[in-house]
Parts: sequence; C-alpha cells; structure tokens
Amino acid sequence: MATHSLDLPVMCDICGKARSTRNHANCSRIRQQRKNVEWQSYMANVAAKKLQQIQCLQPRR
Ligand SMILES: [Zn+2]
Repeated sequence: MATHSLDLPVMCDICGKARSTRNHANCSRIRQQRKNVEWQSYMANVAAKKLQQIQCLQPRR
C-alpha cells in the first residue's frame, strides 16, 4: 500500500493547493529554480569528488 509512488502529486508542493484548482505557472517556476539549485550543488559535489580522485591518482611533485 505505497502512496508515495505517485508520479504526479495531486497537490502542488509549492503552494499546497490542488493542481487542478488554479494556475501554477509561478509555482512550477519556483520548483524549477529549486531544482536548479539542487542540481548545481549536486554537480559541484560531483566535480569536487572527481577533482579529489584525480589528485589522489596523480602523485604530488
Ligand atoms: Zn501551486
């Protein structure tokens, strides 16, 4: 009985109201910005880990 497996939630996670009741263009813009921030921090994390691996593999001169 998993209720968290819904692909599209009925409620808007930004304003907390039903998606069908009003226009959520502004909400989706906010959500996109949040995802962009998450993605940027994720990419920065990946880049930092890669850099660490490279520094570990290459012996210091
Ligand atoms: Zn909304």
